[in-house]
Amino acid sequence: MMTFGLIQVYTGNGKGKTTAALGLATRMLGYGYKVAIIQLMKGWEYGEEYFFNDIDNCLLKKFGRKEFVDKNSPAKIDIQLAEDAWEFARKVIESKEYQLVILDELNVALDFKLLPLHDILDFLRHRPPGIEIVITGRYAPKELLDMADLVSEVEEYKHPYKKGISARKGIEY
Ligand code: ATP
Ligand code: MG
Repeated sequence: MMTFGLIQVYTGNGKGKTTAALGLATRMLGYGYKVAIIQLMKGWEYGEEYFFNDIDNCLLKKFGRKEFVDKNSPAKIDIQLAEDAWEFARKVIESKEYQLVILDELNVALDFKLLPLHDILDFLRHRPPGIEIVITGRYAPKELLDMADLVSEVEEYKHPYKKGISARKGIEY
């Protein structure tokens, strides 16, 4: 059996990227593997934070603030929070403690230029072996797609948001 160590990217505009990553976390945890979930640009509450932190072998840490990040001129604090998240993610990967590391919404942080793409690609290129990395979020940069071993794009065919149904607790967050 091949061990872990590939890079997976879940991108696209449809719903299901973060929840797909959390589903994979569940599968890994079921076999007793260790999973770290690092969430960027998330200041609101999400049901998963009340679940995965209570599960043995799993760590979930969320970075972000409630205000929306301005893509054209991100606030210093938003850059700082993204840097903190990346610093934490690097330590988690370098610890080699976890077989699966999920970098939730990293694609968006890269697209918004909160983090320097080339440094991140460089780190990923030289990462320790044996750790499966899952990177989620819309607007995945082309260079990351080129580096990844698996890319899934979730297409938005329909979303209840279009009918005016706003985000629902337990479904969207
Ligand atoms: P989920 O967390 O439900 O798997 P996601 O990770 O694919 O969704 P994101 O791009 O992270 O989606 O979107 C952030 C939030 O917006 C989520 O709560 C998601 O459910 C919701 N969402 C996803 N697609 C749309 C859409 N087309 N319009 C409005 N809201 C959306
Ligand atoms: Mg998401």
